[in-house]
Amino acid sequence: MPGDSLNINNKATAQNTYDAIVIGSGISGGWAAKELCEHGLKTLVLERGRNVEHIKDYPTANLAPWELRHRGRITEKIHNENPLISKAAGYGEDDLHFFVKDKDHPYIQEKPFDWIRGYQVGGKSLTWGRCTQRWSDFEFTGPKRFGYGWDWPIRYADVAPWYSHVEKFIGICGNKDGLEAMPDGEFLPPFELNCVEQHLKESFLKNYGNRYLVHARWAHLTEPNQIHLDQNRGKCQARNLCMRGCPFGGYFSSNSSTLPWAAKTGNLTVRPHSVVHSIIYDEKKNVATGVRVIDSETKQTTEYFAKIVFLNASALNSNLVLLNSTSDRFPNGLGNDSGILGKYVCFHNYRGWMTGKIDGFEDKYTFGRNPTDAIIANYRNLHKQDTDFLGGYTTYMGAFRERGDGDRCPEQIGSVYKEAMTEPGPWHVYAYLQGETIPKATNHVRLSADQKDQWGIPLLVTSVGYDDNDEKLLKDFFIQTGEMLTKAGVKDIEHWDSKQAPGLDIHEMGGCRMGDDPKTSVLNKWNQLHSCKNVFVTDGACMTSTGNQSPSILYMTLTARAVNHAVEELKKGNAN
Ligand SMILES: Cc1cc2nc3c(=O)[nH]c(=O)nc-3n(C[C@H](O)[C@H](O)[C@H](O)COP(=O)(O)OP(=O)(O)OC[C@H]3O[C@@H](n4cnc5c(N)ncnc54)[C@H](O)[C@@H]3O)c2cc1C
Repeated sequence: MPGDSLNINNKATAQNTYDAIVIGSGISGGWAAKELCEHGLKTLVLERGRNVEHIKDYPTANLAPWELRHRGRITEKIHNENPLISKAAGYGEDDLHFFVKDKDHPYIQEKPFDWIRGYQVGGKSLTWGRCTQRWSDFEFTGPKRFGYGWDWPIRYADVAPWYSHVEKFIGICGNKDGLEAMPDGEFLPPFELNCVEQHLKESFLKNYGNRYLVHARWAHLTEPNQIHLDQNRGKCQARNLCMRGCPFGGYFSSNSSTLPWAAKTGNLTVRPHSVVHSIIYDEKKNVATGVRVIDSETKQTTEYFAKIVFLNASALNSNLVLLNSTSDRFPNGLGNDSGILGKYVCFHNYRGWMTGKIDGFEDKYTFGRNPTDAIIANYRNLHKQDTDFLGGYTTYMGAFRERGDGDRCPEQIGSVYKEAMTEPGPWHVYAYLQGETIPKATNHVRLSADQKDQWGIPLLVTSVGYDDNDEKLLKDFFIQTGEMLTKAGVKDIEHWDSKQAPGLDIHEMGGCRMGDDPKTSVLNKWNQLHSCKNVFVTDGACMTSTGNQSPSILYMTLTARAVNHAVEELKKGNAN
């Protein structure tokens, strides 16, 4: 053809070829990059958002409240323009640059679903809550033992060493409590319980025997080890400004930890502004050969190639990428032989909240700040089903002393208010729920048949809702927690159902679940697509059930385990 020879870059394929491609640079993608690079694989990380460099790109990290134009609050304009994302926990004037804008990234809510996203290098690892309990075997075996959902292809013993591997590197503070429902890990010293939390802990144990309020496990460096110092991270200063990005690297984020570590190997290339459109499948070789990327700025399409692909775009976006990766062999999405891709999407039930006051500790005060909450390990449906609902729940709990007695000065102005502020006020207790939800086929995501985003990619349709089990679990949380607090002497107890839509828990999971049987699952026990083994999905999309623990450390753990497997397979010449 005339002109062919003019513009063709014959070396393009070679220039765009790596050993491994990672889609997404958030919590799980950062881990994939670190492990792959450490194993010596030339790794390309494709990230749809802008670059965020540790420290340099944390513009508000050191601002005092009076240096923020609206003291940290968002304006009505921002709220009106972003009615959805502004609901996210902690969203404010000081950190909104780490969240998407509603108008830029539409999706279709067939049922209400608040999809919270942070599109930048580091993803949501910059703004996450940092709570990191291990799963126990109760969670891995629950669906099989009690007949809900499908059986996990792995057990706690399969992941325990990988949890240790991750914990040692990222730094988790916590106490070794010896609880069977919340296994111990490799912990740095915990933040201390205050006197009221200690009292609650003792009261629960005395009254119930098996309800343990303990230090939650949290990704903060309370006493950094050499491996953390080697990452140029320092001790957590308990500034409680984490969501702005921490210049000390006091909490774990991809930006402060895994990505710079991967870069040090010389094997990492990060390409921001790269929206992955789909994974390229070679029908003859029966493998994925690379990915199709649209530059978010220029809208130009480029293809990148590799022996293995790690999909870590966060659960729902990973579903979207797979559903959009169609070919003659996979007309309904890559790896979707079972027809269940996009189905069994699940989340955590965060609707329950409680508060109260407690007398008797007026001679005591707290010292310093604490960026963590205490936690009551799940005590429901462990060895047997002892309730009228399925699954369990974690209860976060804490106590704090109000500054000033609000009851003395309801108007919050004038000399009475000023004087009241010089005195410590009453002790308050709070609790909130993180409940397991039951995966079901009707809770699903799919691609819109006719609506596309600004890059020409079909919009995601979310069709996810609560069910009767969620209502029963919520009711039980209110009854049990209310009773426990009452027995501990807490008064003026109030409880409320936030009635928040699924998604606002920001623990999106499922759609591409793991399992032994390719007819009822999409991924095998190593997080490989059953029918396209050189594609690994190791973010929340892989979750077979939700358990009741915060999920992100399990994604990191499964990622490290999957990379290890991928590298072993590559050595044997099997993966591609
Ligand atoms: C306020 C808040 C509190 C939270 N608290 C906790 C907690 O205490 N404990 C816990 O376990 N979890 C918590 N989470 C959830 C946690 O942040 C997520 O589970 C975790 O970040 C998921 O990791 P990921 O790698 O799957 O996704 P992310 O960290 O979101 O990273 C995904 C990345 O992929 C990129 N991407 C998406 N689509 C594409 C595409 N097509 N092409 C290229 N790149 C793409 C995104 O831009 C993003 O950078 C919290 C989240 C928030 C926001």
